Amino acid sequence: MSRVSFNRKRVKLKKVLGIRARLALLALILVTPLMLERVRSLENTRAKQIALASAEFASLARHSADMQREVISSVETVLKSAAYIRGSVDGVDRSCDIMRASLPSSLPWIRSLMIVGGDGRIQCATNSLFVGLDLSDRPYFIKARESRDFVFSDYILARPTNTPIVMAAYPVSAIHPGVDAVVLAGVNLDWMSKIMSNLGNRPGITAALVDSAGTVLAAPADRAGMIGRPLDNVPLLSLIADKALNSNLPAGSLSFVAADGSKRMVTFARIAGTQSRLVISIDEARVSAVINGEIRTAYLQLAFVCLFVLLGALAAARKLIIQPIETMAAMAKRFGQGEWSVRATRKSLPAEFVPLARAFNAMAAQLGTRERELVATNDRLTVMASIDMLSGLANRRGFQSRLDFEWMKAQQYECELSLLMIDVDHFKLFNDTYGHPEGDACLTRIGATLAAAAAETMGFAARYGGEEFCLLLPNTDASRALEIGEMVRRAVQDLAVPHSTSNFLTVTASVGVACTRPSDKQQPGDLIEAADAALYAAKHRGRNAVVEHGFVRLSDGRMALAS
Ligand code: GH3
Ligand code: MG
Ligand code: MG
Repeated sequence: MSRVSFNRKRVKLKKVLGIRARLALLALILVTPLMLERVRSLENTRAKQIALASAEFASLARHSADMQREVISSVETVLKSAAYIRGSVDGVDRSCDIMRASLPSSLPWIRSLMIVGGDGRIQCATNSLFVGLDLSDRPYFIKARESRDFVFSDYILARPTNTPIVMAAYPVSAIHPGVDAVVLAGVNLDWMSKIMSNLGNRPGITAALVDSAGTVLAAPADRAGMIGRPLDNVPLLSLIADKALNSNLPAGSLSFVAADGSKRMVTFARIAGTQSRLVISIDEARVSAVINGEIRTAYLQLAFVCLFVLLGALAAARKLIIQPIETMAAMAKRFGQGEWSVRATRKSLPAEFVPLARAFNAMAAQLGTRERELVATNDRLTVMASIDMLSGLANRRGFQSRLDFEWMKAQQYECELSLLMIDVDHFKLFNDTYGHPEGDACLTRIGATLAAAAAETMGFAARYGGEEFCLLLPNTDASRALEIGEMVRRAVQDLAVPHSTSNFLTVTASVGVACTRPSDKQQPGDLIEAADAALYAAKHRGRNAVVEHGFVRLSDGRMALAS
């Protein structure tokens, strides 16, 4: 990268990083750690709350499983007591009577009780419709006889009523080995579903009790439609089906992303003594929706706080830094434009700017004084630049500007303006004879003589150059100018400065007189030219003479001498 473009980039960066941007950055640097800390604590809260919710649902699942187990164990107890009755009492009929009479009404989930003979036929039942049915091919019947233990069937449809039930079976031979009969209980699934009601109506929670084949045995009232369906067909629970059904673990959980994109956690708990499992699916997003809402509000609050801090920083920067700088800059500008009296008012400025204002005021006062001094010096220099030091009269420059001024004035008031051109006669010879310093002294004396004449005649005397002088006479006509010319010639002669190499033996001067009434057709230079020409004529006449010339208009419009 070239040095030039690098510098350009630096300048751009400086502009971007103005005081406001720097303060905003500072505010951000201050606020960011607080923001990060707040974000961290909010995220912690979110994680904790989700973990808490998961723990709560896991405990709910356990609790529901416990309740299911209680139901099942109560069924087992009833079957065991019925088996005991069947084993202890002689005769099926008598046993049936006792069994019917002792069916506890406090266990509403037991729909019916049956005693099945070793041939598989129902010998007696609380619902007489069932008597005589052949259940010899039913797996739970076969398994109960083989295992001699309590068996809980998978989901089945009760043949006569076509209603979904599960069957609990207990062989009498487990208590009385000689009696080949099995006691059965039809377990009401509705009642089991009611037990699960504490898992229902919770957003994001899907719960079901499934048998070993994966058929849903019970579900909360709001999901009753799932009952009887295989778990594979139940949305969200199908994914867990394999793990929940094939696992030998009493409980477990699995996290996955569902087809709808929601993050889900599935918990299952096995119901002791049965092949049934309670499966609960938790939609983390829905469960944490409330938490997320709270966290969103907290983030919004955080954003508002940051915005407020930033705006505050910018407002403070404007009030405390930018405004004072602008005030000072405006004052410096006015000062630069020549308002020397402008001063910074310290009252309205923040304390940090007071020394700057004080320094500015001191500088302004000092610069004001210097400016006044400079103007005075300049004026003196201007005057000096137009004064001839030898004669003490105005120099040619001073004469020119005065001539322009008087020309304008005379033209405005339509007055006459006269000019005398005065040249020292044979001054070269004087220098040759008496030396240059003596020549200078002579010129000084002639200057003083002309100054006196100017004062007397309200004129303006100047040294035109070398040994040539002039006397400008405003508002003076030709005859008066001629008189004054004569007066000047005499005054020079009366100085009686010896000049041995001149015919007159003293220093003399020749005077050319010109007079005009200035108009647009003439220039100040024309008057000088005319006076010069008259002077030339005076020299021509033999020197120490006064000659006056008037203007004569030539055919081309220019002015020329009359003689
Ligand atoms: P003329 O009568 O024709 O005017 O003759 P002149 O000798 O006066 O005129 P010229 O132009 O030949 O010479 C002018 C002289 O004036 C020459 C110069 O040395 C002298 N001079 C001009 N300025 C000064 C000055 O400042 N001091 C002195 N001492 N002499 C000066
Ligand atoms: Mg001369
Ligand atoms: Mg001369």
